[in-house]
Amino acid sequence: MMICYKDDATCIQMLSVQPDTKPKGCAGCNRKIKDRYLLKALDKYWHEDCLKCACCDCRLGEVGSTLYTKANLILCRRDYLRLFGVTGNCAACSKLIPAFEMVMRAKDNVYHLDCFACQLCNQRFCVGDKFFLKNNMILCQTDYEEGLMKEGYAPQVR
Ligand SMILES: [Zn+2]
Ligand SMILES: [Zn+2]
Ligand SMILES: [Zn+2]
Ligand SMILES: [Zn+2]
Repeated sequence: MMICYKDDATCIQMLSVQPDTKPKGCAGCNRKIKDRYLLKALDKYWHEDCLKCACCDCRLGEVGSTLYTKANLILCRRDYLRLFGVTGNCAACSKLIPAFEMVMRAKDNVYHLDCFACQLCNQRFCVGDKFFLKNNMILCQTDYEEGLMKEGYAPQVR
């Protein structure tokens, strides 16, 4: 299955309120905005204090000029990436790996922890175990050497 991934980033605009316009309602607290400045994001108006990251409570108008939305949450960039960002595609199962997940890396490839096993015998590796990358497949030492033998590339004893 192909997963489409798109950054749901929205620009925050800082607007100064014209004295003659009637006050806008804040999307955060539902009260009228009587401040001199208000924020506009997601087609709504907000108090500077009311546009906050749902995770860390930081005021988004201060942190930067973008906010991120996902699943009805408003998030700062850092939390968005932590929760919904991706590390890349797992080289074994080719599914996306979320940024917050632990990964195994081998050369340029990343793997889910669960996927990092010999792709022939499913043996898992422990720290310090030898593994081999051949044709982009992870192999344990046994299968790697067996493969070499079959192909006739057995190490020559000199
Ligand atoms: Zn408000
Ligand atoms: Zn945050
Ligand atoms: Zn995987
Ligand atoms: Zn193996």
